[in-house]
This record gives sequence, structure tokens and C-alpha cells, in this order.
Amino acid sequence: MDDGLEPAGSAEPTVRVGALHALMYCERLFYLEEVEELRVADAAVFAGRALHEEIAREEGDRVERFTLESGALGMRGQLDAIRRRDGQWIPYEHKRGRPRRDSAKKAEAWETDRIQVAAYAMLLEEAVGEPVREGRLRYHKEDVTVRVAIDDDLRREVHAAVQRARELRRFVDRPPVTANDRLCLRCSLAPVCLPEEERLAREPDWQPVNLSVLDDERESLHVVSHGTRVGRSGEELVVTPLEGEKTKFPIRTLGHLVLHGGSQVTSQAIHLCVEHEVAVSWFTGGGRFVGTIGSNGPAVQRRVRQFRALSDEATCLALAKRLVLGKVEGQLRYVLRATRTAPSKREAVEGAVEGMRRVLRQVAHAPDLSTLLGHEGEGASRYFSAWAGMLDPAVDERLRYTGRSRRPPRDRINALLGFGYALLLKDVTAGLLAVGLEPALGFYHQPRSSAPPLALDLMELFRVPLVDMAVVASIHRGQWSPEEDFVVTGEKVWLSDQGRKKIIDVYERRKAEEWKHSVVGYSLSYGRMIELEARLLEKEWSGSPGLFARFRLR
Ligand code: SF4
Repeated sequence: MDDGLEPAGSAEPTVRVGALHALMYCERLFYLEEVEELRVADAAVFAGRALHEEIAREEGDRVERFTLESGALGMRGQLDAIRRRDGQWIPYEHKRGRPRRDSAKKAEAWETDRIQVAAYAMLLEEAVGEPVREGRLRYHKEDVTVRVAIDDDLRREVHAAVQRARELRRFVDRPPVTANDRLCLRCSLAPVCLPEEERLAREPDWQPVNLSVLDDERESLHVVSHGTRVGRSGEELVVTPLEGEKTKFPIRTLGHLVLHGGSQVTSQAIHLCVEHEVAVSWFTGGGRFVGTIGSNGPAVQRRVRQFRALSDEATCLALAKRLVLGKVEGQLRYVLRATRTAPSKREAVEGAVEGMRRVLRQVAHAPDLSTLLGHEGEGASRYFSAWAGMLDPAVDERLRYTGRSRRPPRDRINALLGFGYALLLKDVTAGLLAVGLEPALGFYHQPRSSAPPLALDLMELFRVPLVDMAVVASIHRGQWSPEEDFVVTGEKVWLSDQGRKKIIDVYERRKAEEWKHSVVGYSLSYGRMIELEARLLEKEWSGSPGLFARFRLR
């Protein structure tokens, strides 16, 4: 059984034949899949699985997929089929696509497939104790079968590939992206590998192709009503309110399950979410973010690299400066944009604008993190001092900005901002977990609260575009009822159930909006941008630094 568990002191684990196929395609692909255990079940992968299921159905009991393993060969693999032809055993491998064509248009096997079928042949001959001299590849798109002679040269290539796979498994650092960029166009791991962004980091004139779009349609499911229960039925989540009809959500349509206040979830439903890499987050009834679970493999190498990099003070300071520059510049650009067409508003924010510009000039010279924190605090205070002047005079007095207040919020706009930032924090935390980073180890924020410092770091880039701008725009659209959307108790202001549902909707809509990333040059949703920046952050210490926190609002 291949349960991935190796007892301490056991021999080196065998290499999957499927992994050799990946290795021959691209060493980095092998490393991401086998060492970092990153898998992306995209349409091609699902189609491949469907093909194998279909073949098994069509061929009934004449086909038996079975697993062979050899410690001597250092490999294990699951054969699609074997046949006895003219007294010889022949392994078959089914492929969804087309064969390669030589110059005379004759069908031949792709190099990756040749190695794969040869590896199966070698496993088979060891199992049956007689030579296997041929393997066959069935390319279903053209309904063509290609025969591969298993000769000594090919066997040597398989041995060399196993050796290389074993070497790579011992590396902590990822191999570089392939020099053949055309391979990346068809690679299922391109959305997590980000080869185009890595080429851009090395060659500033590179024009990246967007290979990062992945499951963009997956949505967040917020369960807000008290007593609502989330359970599982097959591959669906079933949401059952205290009163009313249940609703079913196929797990493949979801990216995040968010449980607010007194809602509940069964362990079977959590199991389904973890299995499908759907993050699960919890909020208290008062709107405080409690935590997130996510799953993307054990991520040991990614965390080792993160700990190594973020143990270095100079690295932390350099990243923190870039982060603060990005944050304050974003705040400044927003204030300028919001007051662009109204001279009276622009006049009202002039002092704040000048203050933020001064902070930007100081950031590069900050000698340490505490000085930088001081500059950032000054920038934030200047920024929020502009808010009173940015809102339209027609806005209801009760929705006007009177100063920043956090726990507890003392006015309605702070209640909206506070909950919006909490929603952002859960997405940033989930994004970090999806990338395999440890949210608790940051480079700027210190672990003073229950919020994970790296998530607090990363969210600085998104406060303005995802929360501030969305909240102000919703106020200007007249979306809020000062009476019904808020609960005022003494000096504290909370969101009512209705208000909370509304701000979730405002936030999620904003997250789905597409925006052209000013560095990579392609458009993607803000939700995807969080994950992209988390991946670019990881590249800062994984061989391709320079792109994290560079994007700017227009
Ligand atoms: S995207 Fe390109 S570089 Fe990255 S793993 Fe795939 S083929 Fe290799």
C-alpha cells in the first residue's frame, strides 16, 4: 500500500513512475508535485481520470489496474493494462492526447511517455520473471497505438531518471523554471509555479502570459444565521437553517466556507473541505476573525525556506520597507483619486497628502523595524485624517467619519471597516495557507495578538483596494441604513445581522472584481491577487525576488 508513510530507518522510498513522467517533462514540476506535494486538479487532470475510469468500464474485467513496486529498481507504479501477445507480456499505457509526429508524420511516443512505459515494462519483467521487450501507448485523441521497444539504452535512461529523482528529493530549494516556456502553457501546475512571473523577475522586459487563473469561479460560502448547520452529503455541502429549506453546494464550486457566530459544521463537512482544499474559517458573533484551516500538502520545504529567510533581520527590514511603501503609496493614490474632480475636497485633504508624501520619502531610510512602524503609523494617521474630507457632504451625518476607532468601533463607518478588515484577514490567511506559508511567522508585524503576523503583513497591501474603497463606495451609493444595519449600545457600534450580510456582500463583490496587476500586466480578480502576492512573497526567498508588493493602484 502506498500510504506515503515510511518507518524511520527504512530504505529510501521508491519513486512513482508517474513522477518520472513529470521529471522528464520538467524537473521543477517533479519537485512541486513529489517533494512539495502540490497538486492542482485542473480540467486536464479530471479528463485524464475520467479516461481511465471509462477504459476500465469499457474493457470490463479484461483490464486490471494494479500496482507494482521494486526496491531494486527504486520505482513503483500503477499499470493501466497488460496483455499477453505472441507469448510476450506487454504493458499498455493510455493517454488522452495525441502522439508526436516525426518529419514523415509517422506517429511516435513523446519522450516523457517512452520513459514511463519503459519503467512499467521494467517493473513488470521483475514481477513476472521474464523479459518484457515492448510497451504500448494508446493515444486516444487520434485513436493511435504506438509501440515502444524496451532496449538497453532506454533502460539506462530510466535508471538515470530514478537517480535524478532521488537527488532532487533531497533538495530544499526548488529547481529553476524550465528554459522551454512552451511547456508551461500546458502544465497543470503553472498557476502555483508562476513561471512567467519568475521570468519577469529575471528579465524586466519579459511580457508575462497569464497562466495563473485557477478555479476563479470558486466562491466563498458564508453561513451567517444563528443555528444553521453545515453537513455533508456525498460531494456536496448541505446547509440547513433552523427554519426553512436546506441548500446544497457542490464542493467543486466552493473555495472557502466561512462560519459566523452560532453556525455549526460537522466533521464530515470539514473533512470534505480539507480534501478539496476548501478553506474553512470561523468568526465570532461580534465579527472577530477566529482562525482558518486550509490544506495544501505538508509544505515542509516551503516552511523551511520561509523560516530560513525570515530569521534574517536584513531580509525582514527590506521586505517591510517595500510593504510600507506599497501601503502608504496606495493610501495616497486613493486620496488623490477620491478628490480628483472636487477642488473643495482636494483642498480639505492637502495637509494629509503632504504628510503622506513626507512619510514616503522617509521610509527608504528607516534603519530598523521600529522606526519603520513609526513612519507607517504617521502615514496611517495622515491618511485617515483625509477621510472626513473625502466623503460627500450629502452623506448622512450618522455615517460620517469622526476618527479611527477599533475595538470597539465607536461609529458606523468604523464598524464597517473593522468587519471588512476581519474578512480580509481570513482571505489573506487562507491565501498564505494555500501557498504553504506559515501565517504565524511574519517579517514586519510582531506576534502581539491572536492574528497571525504574516497575514497582518500581507493584508496591508489590500486594506485600501479591498475594504476602504469598497466601504466608501457603498456609503456613496446609499447602501446603508443607519438604523437597521447597525446596533448602537452606549458608545459602541456593531453591525446588525442585516448589516453583516450586506458588508459580506459588498466585500465579496469587490473581491470578485478584476483589476490589471500593474507589475505582471494581466488582469485578475482581487481574490486571486491575494494568492498571487502570497506566491510572489514566497519567491522572494525561493530564487526569484523582486516582484512582491510592487503593484500600485492607478
Ligand atoms: S509551469 Fe513550467 S516551469 Fe513550472 S513546473 Fe510547469 S513546466 Fe515546469
